[in-house]
Amino acid sequence: MNKKKANTCKGIVVALKANFLIVEIDYQEYSHDLFSEKIRFLCTRRRKLEYKGLSIDVGDIVFVESIDYRNNRAVIFDVEPRKSFLIRPAVANVTSIAICISVEEPSFDSEQTSRFLITAEDANIKPLIILTKADLIKKIDLDSYVNKLKLWGYDSIAVSIKNNQVNNSLIERFRQTKLTVLAGPSGVGKTSLINCLIPSLALPTSSVSKKLRRGIHTTRHVELFSIGKGSLLADTPGFNRPEIMSDISGFAALFPEFRAQLIDLKCKFRNCLHRDEPGCLINKNFERYSFYRETIDEMIKTHLPFQGDSV
Ligand code: GDP
Ligand code: ZN
Repeated sequence: MNKKKANTCKGIVVALKANFLIVEIDYQEYSHDLFSEKIRFLCTRRRKLEYKGLSIDVGDIVFVESIDYRNNRAVIFDVEPRKSFLIRPAVANVTSIAICISVEEPSFDSEQTSRFLITAEDANIKPLIILTKADLIKKIDLDSYVNKLKLWGYDSIAVSIKNNQVNNSLIERFRQTKLTVLAGPSGVGKTSLINCLIPSLALPTSSVSKKLRRGIHTTRHVELFSIGKGSLLADTPGFNRPEIMSDISGFAALFPEFRAQLIDLKCKFRNCLHRDEPGCLINKNFERYSFYRETIDEMIKTHLPFQGDSV
């Protein structure tokens, strides 16, 4: 067994703690051990990174030196260019967003779900919807949510921590991608789900300490957890109603219902917003059109200097 210790290593930032960064290194890459060993280092960063204006967030791939293997300390001296960046929560290199929405307690909310979907679409990351608390409704009602989401253009998986319906297929799905962010409003069961997937974490859920958690929740940072096979999962503080940050002209493209039509159709005006423009060819007879319409009307009202139909 060769345990020669490397002078520099590549790792991933899994958490930010005050002025420090926690970097996880897959030790297997640097030794000839047969068993993968993940070591977490408490790191500072070299000044020159600040001079270069390079910010480092959770999910960034970094290079460390001055490694102190006894005390698990190191210094970050470089960072890889990001492949993607999610602004809220700030996580780099996200490869998948799993949006948790409860079917009951709180009950399914189409607008809220759409806002989370738009956030993922805007970051160009394909979302997966996890319908939580499946035990609280009948199978037939659950199926109707799954079908509804299918019509919107999205896959969903129903789970329940009660009947242990957190099946292997969900874990396998998380393991197929490098970094999944669990998003969704608070109270839908994100923490319970993580505890079910990674029992050793035993994170406090709201049923355990509701009051305490409320305090923790507002200040808590994003943290990445290993889910096996080199994949990571991020629990994020709940954003109950994500703001829509997209620009007006690109908004329709964030809906699969529009995208499917726009492959073959060209409206009369290139910059058509698919409202009441002459020569608009979009079939508006789909469930989320009213959400699109209300949101884009609101965006136009707040973004343009003149109110009105200046398309
Ligand atoms: P978070 O804010 O999204 O992290 O939600 P929590 O994990 O703290 O859960 C909120 C509440 O929902 C807690 O009281 C949980 O016990 C409850 N809960 C979570 N998952 C389920 C589930 O699958 N079924 C039912 N019936 N309750 C659940
Ligand atoms: Zn149009």
